[in-house]
Amino acid sequence: MSAPSDSNSAPRVRIAPSPTGDPHVGTAYMGLFNYAFARRHGGKFILRIEDTDQARSTPGSEQAIFEALRWLGIEWDEGPDVGGPFGPYRQSERLPTYALEVERLLQSGHAYRCFCTRERLAELRKQQVEAKGKFGYDGHCRSLDPETAKARAEAGEACVVRLRVPDEGETLFVDGLRGTIRFANAEIDDQVLMKSDGFPTYHLANVVDDHRMGITHVIRGEEWITSTPKHVLLYQAFGWKMPEFFHLGLLRNPDGTKLSKRKNPVSVFYYREMGYLPETFVNFMGTLGFSMGDDVERFTLAEMVEAFEWEKVHPGGPVFDPVKLAAFNADDIRDLDDEELYRRLLERVLPRERLMPMVRQTKERIKRLDDFVPYVACFFGGEVDYRADWPKAQKKVKKRARKEVVDALKGWLDEIERDPRARAFDAEGLEAFSRDYCEASGFKAGELFTLLRLASTGRMATPPLFDTLEIVGKDRMRERLRGFIAFVAGQPDWAAADKK
Ligand code: GLU
Repeated sequence: MSAPSDSNSAPRVRIAPSPTGDPHVGTAYMGLFNYAFARRHGGKFILRIEDTDQARSTPGSEQAIFEALRWLGIEWDEGPDVGGPFGPYRQSERLPTYALEVERLLQSGHAYRCFCTRERLAELRKQQVEAKGKFGYDGHCRSLDPETAKARAEAGEACVVRLRVPDEGETLFVDGLRGTIRFANAEIDDQVLMKSDGFPTYHLANVVDDHRMGITHVIRGEEWITSTPKHVLLYQAFGWKMPEFFHLGLLRNPDGTKLSKRKNPVSVFYYREMGYLPETFVNFMGTLGFSMGDDVERFTLAEMVEAFEWEKVHPGGPVFDPVKLAAFNADDIRDLDDEELYRRLLERVLPRERLMPMVRQTKERIKRLDDFVPYVACFFGGEVDYRADWPKAQKKVKKRARKEVVDALKGWLDEIERDPRARAFDAEGLEAFSRDYCEASGFKAGELFTLLRLASTGRMATPPLFDTLEIVGKDRMRERLRGFIAFVAGQPDWAAADKK
């Protein structure tokens, strides 16, 4: 039961992504810094999958995390797929452990059962909003007799388990990059540790696993700083030695906002599909928040490992600048010898899995083999030019105001993330989703589909729309649609002009 942590031994670090959605650039970024630190000190880098949110976690997304990290060369020593001495490394397989640990907290009085219903909590929240007062749980069940509460739970009454946070005093921790960070206990909620379905929350599972897996340094994003005092209280309640904490700056868009898929592609796969070299991408991420010194920006993963020190890491929000990444990539492509470049082209741009769907779509539409390349050109590359075919597409929506069109496209772009049918981005699912989307948005299929056709390829003549979207792929489609939305938004409002 006791963990192997010992401050003199080699460090053990981890990333703990939740397997939801596409593999995020932020996960790769945290992976890189954890990896560099572990390798620098001969320690271990662990990959733990935090899949306690059963509604959102998917096996496909877990596989995608593995694939994305491996593509970048950020290899882990222990994890769900490679095993290790402290497994299982998937939280959904560790439920008995959390139940055991939460029981210890209940017995020591650091946690209590709470029977408040959803309705009561909603009412409480409403009152707090109206009173503009303090938010959070009001401690209603704190003073229940533990034995009675236990009996009620055992009799089947639904309850959660909450952490008993002291009302007074403060909780602090030292962040290796930011110094001492303090929180007034009065501001910390009596956090839910175990949900009524027996699943732990992030806070409980994260602390229990970090302890049991012997994690010595928690290196994660700054968005977790406000969770850390809750974790500190948990370590204290359990009587466990605390790891050291390092909160890296959150990646930002060039305009300073948090990196988000509304503004930038955030899936590692996008960068892979678009032909960024993995070593370049790693180098680029390494320049975000870490400086090699002497203005050296170009370095390999091995060089970063060699040079890694916390003094060279800056927590200020690092800017993910795609222009800089593209410049790095162009330089690195230029530096490849011709044979190597050819090999990479075959591997990334012309692999069988990518070409086959295009072969199928093209067969009935080309007269000579040599027509193939111009025909499929629209499936490759980044931005496309909408100007030539825009007037044709515009005719289809001439009765609508520009804003309506822009909003409909934005809505489609947002909804493809949420609708389970569209998530896999296959032709069938996309069609079913898009037809329903038309009904809901009041757009005619003919209108929306025309816009999507132009948005996806820059052309009005393409193979069947949904096959086309499938081949273009989710990441490239997102990027192009963003470009198309900006293009449409930049047009004079045609409907308004009509009304004059
Ligand atoms: N599951 C959390 C995430 O998705 C882990 C955060 C942490 O590193 O503690 O990033």
